[in-house]
Parts: sequence; C-alpha cells; structure tokens
Amino acid sequence: MSHKAEASFLHERKRPPGDSKLILKKFTKKEYSFAAMIQRKHTRQIKVGNVVIGGDAPIAVQSMTNSDTRDVEATVSQIHKLESAGCEIIRVAVLDDDAAVAIRQIRDQISIPLIADIHFDHRLAVAAMENGAQGIRINPGNIGGAAKLAKVADAAKTHHVSIRVGVNSGSVEKDILALFGHPTPEALVESALRNVKLLEKLHFYEMKISIKSSDTLTTIDAYRLLSDKCDYPLHLGVTEAGGLIAGTVKSSVALGMLLYEGIGDTFRISLTRDPVEEIRVCYELLRSLRIRERGPELISCPTCGRCRIDLFSLAEKVERYIQTIETPLKIAVMGCVVNGPGEAKEADLGLAGGTGVGIIFKKGKFYKKVPENELYDVFIHELNSMTEKSTTPK
Ligand code: SF4
Repeated sequence: MSHKAEASFLHERKRPPGDSKLILKKFTKKEYSFAAMIQRKHTRQIKVGNVVIGGDAPIAVQSMTNSDTRDVEATVSQIHKLESAGCEIIRVAVLDDDAAVAIRQIRDQISIPLIADIHFDHRLAVAAMENGAQGIRINPGNIGGAAKLAKVADAAKTHHVSIRVGVNSGSVEKDILALFGHPTPEALVESALRNVKLLEKLHFYEMKISIKSSDTLTTIDAYRLLSDKCDYPLHLGVTEAGGLIAGTVKSSVALGMLLYEGIGDTFRISLTRDPVEEIRVCYELLRSLRIRERGPELISCPTCGRCRIDLFSLAEKVERYIQTIETPLKIAVMGCVVNGPGEAKEADLGLAGGTGVGIIFKKGKFYKKVPENELYDVFIHELNSMTEKSTTPK
C-alpha cells in the first residue's frame, strides 16, 4: 500500500502554519489537551522515494528485512507482509554485487520506498542507487575515504537519493573515543556531526541522521544533544534492543521520551523477532502518545477472580483478528460486569463477560447479550459491520 493511500486512514497531528503547537484531526478534546503539549522540533525536510521525512510530515515508520536480499522472492514476500502491517519505508542489507542487482527486481514488486544498507564498500552504494534504491544508509567515515565518498554523493545527487548518516556505539572513531573514553552521548554526537560534515563539504544536504546505542539513557541523551546541534531530520532507534518484551520496553522508553519531547522524524523499533512485530510496536507507541493511529486500539482487562469467561483466549483471538483492520476504533474486551461495562461503554465496540455469557455494547449503548460460545463470532460480525470497507483479510 502506498504512503499516499495510507493517508486516508492515518490520523496525524499537524502543525498549522504559523503555530508551533500541534493540533489533532481525530482525537477527542481530552486527548487533544494532553497531546498539544508535544511541540515537535521543526527539522528540514527530505524525501525517501515518495515519503517525506522531517518538518511537519508524519513521523514515518520503518523496518528492515532479515531475509537474504539476493533471494528476491523471500525478500519481496517479507516486504509485502510489512507493507500490510503499515511499514512505510523498508531497508535491506546489501552485502555484495548480487544483492545490489537484486534491488532492481525487488523495487519493481513493492510499493514502499527501499533503502540499501551498506558498510565499507562505496561501489555497492553506487550500484544500489543505480539499481533503484531510493535511500542509502552509510557511515560516511568508513566508506573508503574522501574520493570514494564523493562518488557516492555524486550518485545520490544523480539518482535523487537521500542518505542516512548512521552512527552507532561501535562505529565511533578512535580519536573521538580517546577523547571521551567511551561511546558517550557526546562522543556519538561528535562522530555523527563529523560524518555529516564530510557530506556537507561535497554540497550534499539530503540526509537524515541516526545515532544508535543499545543503552536506553545514552540513546535519549545523544538524540537530545544532536537535536540541539542540527536541524537535519532524525531517525530514532535503539540498536540491538533485544527480544519482544525487552526490546519493546527499551525502545518505548527511549523513543517514547524523545517523541514526547518533539524529537524524531522517523524511527524503527529493532526486535530480535519477525519484523512485522516491529511495525505493530511502532504504531502502538505512536498511538500511546496520540501522534498517529492505525487500526483498532484494544483495551482488555488482566482478569481477576470475578471473571467467569475464558477471556484470555477470547482477547487473543480478537487481538489477532484486528491486525487485519485499518480503521482506528476503540475496542474493549472485559472480563466481568464490575468494571467491564464502564470500559465497554467508552469503546466503539465492547464486551463484558458474565457467567457463561457476554454483554456487547455498541457506541456506548447496550446492544445484546450473547452465550459465551457464540461471543467471538457475534463480536467479530459486529466489528466487521463497523469496518466493512476497510477490512483487509489476510
Ligand atoms: S474487568 Fe472484572 S474481571 Fe476484569 S480485572 Fe476488572 S474486575 Fe476483574
């Protein structure tokens, strides 16, 4: 799905001309007053293919494939799944000439912009761009010297490709490390700005910057510092964040704080997991900050001794099902009639469990009582009736 097509169901906060505050298109008044406290830093705009990054453009969601890029079929298949989940920019690793050539075939079969991730070899960067990469991610300091970097910048200008200057804890230059002792936030920023200057000397400015650390607090401080020192758009991320739970928590703390402070124009949540999970976490993070929303929000209770239905499996099935829905809705799946009806009534569609039955609420009003064994089917039927046009069965 194209970025343009998605704009119809994503509801972003926009900055009106001449106003530094952000406004909401979709959220409620109460949510607006909270979210309006976020003032996004105004960075310069660049493009990755047809996706605008920076300024008042929506904060773009990225991921990276973990297939062998030379395996075109597997890579395209993974990208299609990521597109369906809402990924807006995809990055692939380019390790050799065959991978650079494969970019041509991959690009022909996908609808989101593609970034080639390259280390050390400037030839691969040039080849990736010649084969249609719309962005490249490099560390200019390790691409082989000034003359080779100039060739990369020339190719980027020729092919209208933007560059992500990607610095991480492991790539900080020796002299900077000697100065700061460790890959501190200051060292990361020093390294990033040094690499940015290499491209600026070549009159190349279509870039965004990332400075990734696997440490949450270093990440927060480094991006704060970098944001103060330049107006290039920033790509946020915690590198090697870990598995689903640890990675989600670390990334959400670091990126959540930064986004709340108005820092960041695009981001990836890195997980040792199927990259589709990364996209789900990205949207939950954006939703929790009232920045963007995609698909239904599920509110479900943890259950307690009052629960008389099998809520865990019901909530799990509903959670799985709503991943196929793009419409932003509030859905509540609650265990009992003590707190359940209250939450369920606040939702667009809700249910509260009773003894062997469930009570369904629609738009805050009692709708019907259903036996437990029919509850899931009836609930999904009602959900479909509210989202019919935008449901995309997988
Ligand atoms: S909604 Fe009911 S079952 Fe669920 S946690 Fe609250 S009191 Fe317990």
